[in-house]
Amino acid sequence: MQTWSICSTPTATAEREMQAAEPPKIQDLMEYLSAFFHGMPVKLFKPPFQWQKWNKYDGAILTPPSTQHRIGLRTPGDRLFGIRCRASPDGLSPMQVNLDDVLDGLAENIPANAHSIMMLLDLDMYEGDGDIFTAGRAYGGSRIAAVSLFRDQPLCAPPGDGHAWPASHCAEYIDKLCLEASDEPPTKKKAKLQLSFRCARTGTSGPLDRAIEAAAQTTAAAEEEASSSGISRPARLDTAASTTAQWLGRTAVTMAHELCHCLGLDHCTYFACAMQGCGSVAEAQRQPPYVCPVCLEKICWAIGEGVVDGWEEDRGVREGFVRERYGKLRGVCERWDGRMFVGYKAWLDDVLEGIVERGDGVVD
Ligand SMILES: [Zn+2]
Ligand SMILES: [Zn+2]
Repeated sequence: MQTWSICSTPTATAEREMQAAEPPKIQDLMEYLSAFFHGMPVKLFKPPFQWQKWNKYDGAILTPPSTQHRIGLRTPGDRLFGIRCRASPDGLSPMQVNLDDVLDGLAENIPANAHSIMMLLDLDMYEGDGDIFTAGRAYGGSRIAAVSLFRDQPLCAPPGDGHAWPASHCAEYIDKLCLEASDEPPTKKKAKLQLSFRCARTGTSGPLDRAIEAAAQTTAAAEEEASSSGISRPARLDTAASTTAQWLGRTAVTMAHELCHCLGLDHCTYFACAMQGCGSVAEAQRQPPYVCPVCLEKICWAIGEGVVDGWEEDRGVREGFVRERYGKLRGVCERWDGRMFVGYKAWLDDVLEGIVERGDGVVD
């Protein structure tokens, strides 16, 4: 099944990037999740899940794509589950596994001392017959989740338009997306709306502005380096280190999102937030890695109430918890290159400075 995790239709540019990029490492993902869910231990579940033959089917690539089969998943409890599988409708992955079936296999393996269990797959996943792929899903009530890192690899991710978070907050870019999404016929005004790579918000200063500025500096430095070495647009500008960091970052953010569902959080409809619902890789790249104040409050209560001593009695304990959590996240971000981590660190720097100035743990 090794070939199932290899993207089928790479472009030459993406292939070059892919050769240089490293897939997310489990230890790095666990470090991010430990910071995000500060206060709760994040542990690697070691007993193995193993793919194997199901009846006589051994994992050969199926054609035509509409053909569906089952592949065996042997769980640590020594039960064999038949997982539906198929070739991906868009041809990007050789084969995909059915998410619901994977979660069924996972459900009976939640350790007695664990709150939730999550499986990370390098294979592509799908849910219903009608969808193309699913990057992650949690059954929050059952405290089980599965995430695939397949679609965030450089070979699969859609070519960047220069507006992944934090540049997704660029006013011009948002106008353009809104126009594209509206049903109105194109007008001269719309035709004139050209996107620049200059991202700006007007009249604001705060964590998000710091994030945009820091990420823009990274982009400018990459452009300078590319032009001095003779690489011109539209070649991608990312270095191996930043591509690796982007892949790690997107996977970590998806894992945190799904685990938040296991803590009881629903999708966020209030602000730009890592708990917003998401329908595509492009949309996921526009969303922030942090949670909004509403969702932060939910996470803090979900973890703090059960895990942190003195939570109920002392408001200062809660404020200290938020500060420590942000500090841990900043420690993770500063280890990584790439626009998301660079922007996230700048955002955290500003938030933490604000906490110190106000002398509390409340983030506006
Ligand atoms: Zn979700
Ligand atoms: Zn939120």
